[in-house]
Amino acid sequence: MRKFNFCAGPAALPEPVLRQAQQELLDWQGLGCSVMEISHRSPEFVEVAERAEQDLRDLLAIPANYKVLFLHGGATAQFSAVPWNLFGAGRKVADYIHTGQWANKAIKEAQRYGQVNVVASSEDRNFTYAPGPDSWQQSGDAAYFHYTPNETIGGVEFDYIPEVSCPLVADMSSNILSQPLPVEKFGVIYAGAQKNIGPSGIAVAIVRDDLLERALPEIPRSLSWKVAADAGSMDNTPPTFAWYLSGLVFQWLKAQGGVEAMAEQSLRKSALLYDYLDRSEFFSSPVEPGSRSRMNVPFVLADDSLDKAFLREAEEAGLLNLKGHRSVGGMRASLYNAVPLAAVEALVAFMADFEQRRT
Ligand SMILES: *Cc1c(COP(=O)(O)O)cnc(C)c1O
Repeated sequence: MRKFNFCAGPAALPEPVLRQAQQELLDWQGLGCSVMEISHRSPEFVEVAERAEQDLRDLLAIPANYKVLFLHGGATAQFSAVPWNLFGAGRKVADYIHTGQWANKAIKEAQRYGQVNVVASSEDRNFTYAPGPDSWQQSGDAAYFHYTPNETIGGVEFDYIPEVSCPLVADMSSNILSQPLPVEKFGVIYAGAQKNIGPSGIAVAIVRDDLLERALPEIPRSLSWKVAADAGSMDNTPPTFAWYLSGLVFQWLKAQGGVEAMAEQSLRKSALLYDYLDRSEFFSSPVEPGSRSRMNVPFVLADDSLDKAFLREAEEAGLLNLKGHRSVGGMRASLYNAVPLAAVEALVAFMADFEQRRT
């Protein structure tokens, strides 16, 4: 029996996608083998790859002057790829916003190759908010400006897009495809797949084509967006099964009404949980209103000695993976596209019952 899964990543996948993959696993398209067992250069797989790209372009209305790349190495490889690909045109300074653990990892990596100017940080209030633009100290000569629109661990999401005078780079690993996006405001958008796209093992990068010419000459071949773009993301063997499954998720998203429908649902789902947290004396959200993520909802029990009982009983009730990140403790419910409203209703009902029984 499938249960409600609130895992932060690798996260829940849509059940119809898993069923289709299961049904096609042994004999895909009448070929007598699975999609994993054919050449990535076969016409059959190339069609899968091209359709996935086109569906993603349709979903996010990606303009023609952007390349869509399917890459190895997760979002972490992109922490390195960003400076390698953008520090080559004589500028080795970049602006970063520090909003928590993922932003910090991106910053640490960029510091190995150039100078990082932290334009704003929310460290002063323990990373519980997204800093507003009034506090920024932008550099005049930055090669790019990097931020993390949704901090998956802290549960902090920007409700605005920074206006900057150099290419804007965003790590959208945990909120891509959750709402319509003005892609033209960005230079680069990247995301590891395992939160809101598909299984782990693949990442997507959407790169404005003029930015393909700015790489450091020594860039490792496997990190080069230009090499990937020129080779249709097949300079070497891509993660074919993850690409195929991501493509099925894109088709599912289109059938659900696309990112507009996901935006509406994500607001409904997260509001249901936040409203309950704000009414409760027993549970609370550590994140400041205005910066609360629609995707990842951390919460704490007033009495943390009940954490273990809460998690155990939740699991018994069929509510999986609510434990907070090991670095922050408490709880976290991730409400990505594949998590239905019914899951959040069941969670809130369970929490209300738990609260009543323990007070
Ligand atoms: C999960 C996550 C990452 C790391 O992704 P990997 O694919 O494991 O490298 C980076 N940034 C954000 C915002 C994430 O949520």
